[in-house]
Amino acid sequence: DIFIRTENVGKVYGTGEAATTALREVSLEIGKGVFACIVGPSGHGKSTLMHLLGGLDRPSSGSVWLGGTELSGLDNNRLAAVRREKIGFVFQFFNLLQNLTARENIETAMMLAGVPERRQTERAMELLALVGLADKANNKPSQLSGGQQQRVAIARALANDPDILLMDEPTGNLDSAAEAEVLAILRDLHRRGTTIVIVTHNDQIARAAEQVIQVKDGRLVS
Ligand code: ADP
Ligand code: ADP
Repeated sequence: DIFIRTENVGKVYGTGEAATTALREVSLEIGKGVFACIVGPSGHGKSTLMHLLGGLDRPSSGSVWLGGTELSGLDNNRLAAVRREKIGFVFQFFNLLQNLTARENIETAMMLAGVPERRQTERAMELLALVGLADKANNKPSQLSGGQQQRVAIARALANDPDILLMDEPTGNLDSAAEAEVLAILRDLHRRGTTIVIVTHNDQIARAAEQVIQVKDGRLVS
């Protein structure tokens, strides 16, 4: 089962003399349930590729399919719906709301998807248990370590049962103990069948991945 597919994807930022070609003719396939990582030097197009796979941005050329859906065929509203319903995003800097508790941060994601309030709380508690933070439900981000905050961000990304988890340097801002916590959760999610695509400089994570997508100068290195 192929879940993600790109065909000759290119991305150019800006126009004229200021134009930067970030990706060229990228064609790849990622199967359902696969743990894939995107590696390569800084500034070579990894984040751009992840943004295109997640419909956060649109390619300048070529096509991206998620499941059977070609993203360029969707208007902005439909694309936003695909992001909300099918994709969970995790970034380097957690992006948690500081004045809300761990549980409330996770509930917020479900609120936007129209999940009934009781169910939001139930599900948030399930997810906190999944990432080993059931006892921190009422802590605010400032009362959690970096690794714990990232686990909350992962739980939030999973709130609406996404088909795919896209992560951009999720351990880039963590110490090695916290990295290990995050890696353990990724392995667990992978066992449960979640498709994971992760941009990372972390060798331990890259070794754990089944598929390594290497990007150099905006192209795939085979
Ligand atoms: P916004 O969509 O809020 O306007 P930008 O388009 O400026 O934000 O940036 C989107 C992402 O791309 C950010 O993570 C930013 O750090 C990164 N980015 C923006 N411009 C550059 C650049 N010239 N080189 C590298 N990364 C950039
Ligand atoms: P990586 O994730 O491998 O560090 P990026 O995908 O962030 O690389 O960047 C690839 C290239 O695209 C870089 O030359 C970067 O400066 C440029 N770039 C990235 N985002 C933007 C943006 N929003 N506007 C202009 N240039 C960008």
